[in-house]
Amino acid sequence: MRADAAPDLLDAPSLATLADRCVQCGLCLPHCPTYRLEGVESESPRGRIAYVKAIATGLLAPTDTGDQHLEHCLGCRRCEVVCPAGVEMERLLVGARTSQSRRRPLAFTTRARLALLARPGLLKALLGLYRLTFNILSASWRPLPVPGRGSHRSYRGAAERGDATVAIFVGCVAGPYESLTRAALIRLFEATGASVAIPSGQGCCGTAAAHAGDAEGAERLSAANRQAFAGQATVLSLASGCQHGLAESLAGVAPVEDALAFLEVHSDPLRFHSAGGSSVALHLPCTQRVLETDSALRRLLARVPDLDLIELPDTGCCGAAGLHMLAEPERAARLREPLLIALEASGAVELLSSNIGCRLHLGNGSKIPVRHPIEFLAEHLA
Ligand code: SF4
Ligand code: SF4
Repeated sequence: MRADAAPDLLDAPSLATLADRCVQCGLCLPHCPTYRLEGVESESPRGRIAYVKAIATGLLAPTDTGDQHLEHCLGCRRCEVVCPAGVEMERLLVGARTSQSRRRPLAFTTRARLALLARPGLLKALLGLYRLTFNILSASWRPLPVPGRGSHRSYRGAAERGDATVAIFVGCVAGPYESLTRAALIRLFEATGASVAIPSGQGCCGTAAAHAGDAEGAERLSAANRQAFAGQATVLSLASGCQHGLAESLAGVAPVEDALAFLEVHSDPLRFHSAGGSSVALHLPCTQRVLETDSALRRLLARVPDLDLIELPDTGCCGAAGLHMLAEPERAARLREPLLIALEASGAVELLSSNIGCRLHLGNGSKIPVRHPIEFLAEHLA
């Protein structure tokens, strides 16, 4: 969500008004991954809303335990989709966490991670060092898979193009990790006759900062992206986890679309060659389910002949959830476990997933290679 919307939620009446929409029906509970993990009310949307409301109305003083349950929220928005009362959980979460960070400063590790996400050059340099030293690091020092070498050469000509049909949003950690994905996306779009730009000056979408309660940091990132994408006809997001926050940041500046959904609409000229009967697993991130771009992806993949596509069951959030996989590795691993079991049982030779955070988290827990569906599609372009 747009981070500059957060300050108006800081006052208790605004948070209480948002929380008041909850009629406590409990329909969201079975859909909430943290409730499914723990089975306790305080780890459910209803429990979190009640806690925020109790503080906002002065019924309760904030407690460490209550704050922790709030911090465990993954921001997956699965509860919003099923809520009959229209509760805006993400808005409530951002407001509550912003308020929380004002009374209790963010942990040093959270501030350090957010600072890195806001500095793509430094992040890229550190990930380069991580790649070089990966083989000598112990398992506890490998929170992310090894970044690929990638190649920027293949899309260097796309940078700064003024007359482009679409502009690509790069993001933060996806910068070094998605180099080949962006090259694949450009290849696919150029095959449709479209031209692609990668505007400079862009950065992180700010969702991680907003969810952590750093409203000012999130707004700085939003402002930089508004400037970088001003005048673009359409901005494409390769990461489903960034799309919603980016769209809110760029509201009134440029429309933001899911790269796969946009490609599917313009994919008539594309032809794909046979996958040779390969068994490939498909993971649908929470954000892709919420944004309902999963059907477009299924339609695109269905155009690859002889593909044995195995859609993994919806076991709930994989546990990545932005900084959650780094801040709460044990919980993140527990949330991921059922998905990894289903992946192993599928017999698939690779896994496709459209969100960078999910791919990093899943890739770190499995020997089965994980990549973006765009790379698979580009590889099978006839
Ligand atoms: S579904 Fe909506 S109204 Fe019902 S308990 Fe959950 S958040 Fe509250
Ligand atoms: S956003 Fe996700 S984790 Fe948070 S309360 Fe809603 S369903 Fe649960």
